[in-house]
Amino acid sequence: MKRTLLAATLAMTFANAANAAGEAKNIIFFLGDGMGPSTITASRIFKYGEDGSLNMDKLERTARIKTYSNDAQTTDSAPSMAAYMTGVKMNNEVISMSADTVATNPGKDANGNLGINNCAATGNGTSVPTILELAKSKGKAVGSITTTELTHATPAATFSHICNRNAQYAIAAQAVPGGAGYNSALLDGVDVLMGGGRNHFLPYDATTSIGKLGRADGRNLLTEIAAKGYTVAATKADMLAAPTNKKFIGLYSSKSHLEYELDRTATPSVGEGANQPSLAEMTTKAMDILSQNSNGYFLMVEGGRIDHALHGTNAKRALTDTIAFDDAVKAALDKAKLTDPTLANTLIVVTADHDHTLAFNGYGKRGNPILDINRGYRDGKPSLDADGNTYTTLVFGNGPNRPNLRTNLDSATVLADNYLQETGVRLASETHGGGDVKLFATGAGAKSFKGTLDNTKVFTLLKSAYGF
Ligand SMILES: [Zn+2]
Repeated sequence: MKRTLLAATLAMTFANAANAAGEAKNIIFFLGDGMGPSTITASRIFKYGEDGSLNMDKLERTARIKTYSNDAQTTDSAPSMAAYMTGVKMNNEVISMSADTVATNPGKDANGNLGINNCAATGNGTSVPTILELAKSKGKAVGSITTTELTHATPAATFSHICNRNAQYAIAAQAVPGGAGYNSALLDGVDVLMGGGRNHFLPYDATTSIGKLGRADGRNLLTEIAAKGYTVAATKADMLAAPTNKKFIGLYSSKSHLEYELDRTATPSVGEGANQPSLAEMTTKAMDILSQNSNGYFLMVEGGRIDHALHGTNAKRALTDTIAFDDAVKAALDKAKLTDPTLANTLIVVTADHDHTLAFNGYGKRGNPILDINRGYRDGKPSLDADGNTYTTLVFGNGPNRPNLRTNLDSATVLADNYLQETGVRLASETHGGGDVKLFATGAGAKSFKGTLDNTKVFTLLKSAYGF
């Protein structure tokens, strides 16, 4: 009996030792760029109704996150994502550098394109390690995928270190193993990279569509990265056909971000959308590749265009992209549970980097379409402002559409794809908001995510979930 107990105790100790390094073998970190609390609520009502639930709503652990940066009450995506990825609060526009780093000029190339300057070798801060780099150093596979340009601030904060987020040509070079400017902390390279902005990886070529948007240094980073063993994809078909036992880079837009989901799925689709995968499809492909590594993986998934639609005060595209992002969360949950049914080995975190100025007006009736003019809960009749004009439930604190004199709005106008919600202050582009954002978590190590947390604390919790 005593021996049996001892054996059982030893077995438990051994099991605990196996887990002592942390609970999560895999982490998937979802970032809805600019997906503030009111955007989440509006998207929920848009797709599932007031009493419905987004997939992210169903995750059992939640927290609120403070997003201020080192020098600003309202952050941009560079220091806020970098805070999640490094645990360091840095200045606006700076990516994964120490707090003392000052944002510097991103530099211009010979064709006038911004973005060729790395940080000075000395005198302006130092690189700080990212959770992606730490995972890589522990033998895990790592990936960073987005609907924006791959070199945009959010994905860049996972795999690069730079003094200005707009130095996108330099950021691209940091991702190419062995090349000039490579970020050697990535060891043999990020295992999965996806997004848009192929121009940052290809040379200037007057005969191609990207023309002057290509690299002035003449390098073809896609040829270079292919020589390092990567499959290079330009379309959804390329992605689906790619082997899962090789590193992968998929750049699905020649010179910009991926299309908004509303345009990608339109008939016919708009721009390059017809050949672009959904974020959910990108997520499951990335998991197929990363899960080949028996040490586990880190994957960052960004719904990056939520932010762009909000800057434009085009709520319809913002909500549609939020739903596409939420569908990617569902796809990841379903796929992870195929091999890890209780998520005992996999931590999934869903959050945003900052808020926007989207707000709800009036006392709209349950079931009134969220993008429509406000109709009152008592009688369902259009709500009127002090001058007797209708107004939409959703508006923004600032942005381009601030009429000097408000007029009556009808449903056909405000429900159109290209309608821009009205704003309080007139600015050419709506700004971020400084309010706290939400965080949802499930799986291994999720129970630590609770209360009101500084964004830098999220890094600490990710790290301890891994046991680093
Ligand atoms: Zn933004």
